[in-house]
Amino acid sequence: MRKNHNMKVLHLDIETAPTNVYTWSLWPKYVNPSDVQEAGYTLCWSAMWEGDRTVMYGSITEDGSFIDTVWKLLDEADAVVHYNGSKFDIPTLNKEFLLRGLPPPSHFHQIDLLRTVRKQFKFESNKLDYVCQRLGLGAKTQHKGMALWYGCMDGDVQSWRTMARYNKQDVKLLRKLYKFLLPWIHNHPNVGMWVDDPKKPTCTNCGSQNVHKKGTQYNTKAASYDRYKCNTCGTPMRSRKSVKTTNENVLMRT
Ligand SMILES: [Zn+2]
Repeated sequence: MRKNHNMKVLHLDIETAPTNVYTWSLWPKYVNPSDVQEAGYTLCWSAMWEGDRTVMYGSITEDGSFIDTVWKLLDEADAVVHYNGSKFDIPTLNKEFLLRGLPPPSHFHQIDLLRTVRKQFKFESNKLDYVCQRLGLGAKTQHKGMALWYGCMDGDVQSWRTMARYNKQDVKLLRKLYKFLLPWIHNHPNVGMWVDDPKKPTCTNCGSQNVHKKGTQYNTKAASYDRYKCNTCGTPMRSRKSVKTTNENVLMRT
């Protein structure tokens, strides 16, 4: 699909190292913060700009500057697409920014595809790997489980190669899933705002002006709107303004 707007959409995925703790039990209900030996940290990130096939990547094997690089990407983005990133990736990176003395990046909208998947569909599993396989979009890179993370934490070169491949594949899957789910995304920032001087009705989710009117939508009160549908991506929409003077015989419940 051609990019019809100027909104800078960044696809992003990060991988982190677990927190290393001492514990008396293999079934701990609670680990005291004083038993933390080493706090978890970000291992690497991968990102792609929508409309550009380049897969960007940064890891802790370089130096701390890989955090500065992802900060710059977020600072530049109008919207960031992720999978559970509103609870995990973004707050994790915010912690890294704070620890590194960086200010918050400029505002960006968050498009969390896990939220869309949970809200709109009843897949047997909402994991990215499962959903992408069910949709025929591909699968995550196979790996040897936690041993891969331990290998990276020990600086094993082969483990890092696999981690980089795994991380990049995740962001490629994310981009494919975004395109696939586009008309289902409810809280998508309105890309009509990023189209230069739109002269025609513009799709909220893809920016296409190839849309058609499709009847009337009545809300539960007393207003009615023109209903639209995008011919390019299929997003259902309505006019912003109420289009009909409400008939005076339509009453309102007190
Ligand atoms: Zn569209």
